[in-house]
Amino acid sequence: MTLRLSQALWAQIGEHAARSYPEECCGALIGPVPKDFAASGRSVTATALRSFDNAWEASTRKTRYQLEPVQLAKLEREFLGTGNGIVGYYHSHPDVPDWPSPFDLLRAWPCYSYLIVSVAGAAVGGGRSWVRSDDGREFHNEPLIIDGAPI
Ligand SMILES: [Zn+2]
Repeated sequence: MTLRLSQALWAQIGEHAARSYPEECCGALIGPVPKDFAASGRSVTATALRSFDNAWEASTRKTRYQLEPVQLAKLEREFLGTGNGIVGYYHSHPDVPDWPSPFDLLRAWPCYSYLIVSVAGAAVGGGRSWVRSDDGREFHNEPLIIDGAPI
């Protein structure tokens, strides 16, 4: 499994994370949906992203994210039949590492890439991408390739 994206998209995610600090930001990664999306060796390339509002109430937004469901439904409809679609999701971890929380695991679907960026203030500390195991018990770290280079 691999997630690829451009430096420009990576910078957009960092800006969203910094702007949302100390709350978590979230959004969808969009790109061609591969025929083998569910295969364990699949690779996805995000070619666009869409930022979302964090739908939790303010007191919860520092430690959790939720994609705004109406926004998500509209986005899925927008890409219906185009061959492109949501290949993953990103969110930020303010002041904590880019490892998924137990809550992240509970809410994750299989196949999708879950990109997490750690952020402290305006500084993005790094990022890792994760894919949920089929049985839902754990995340597997997948290579994250930015403009052809692993980070
Ligand atoms: Zn998280």
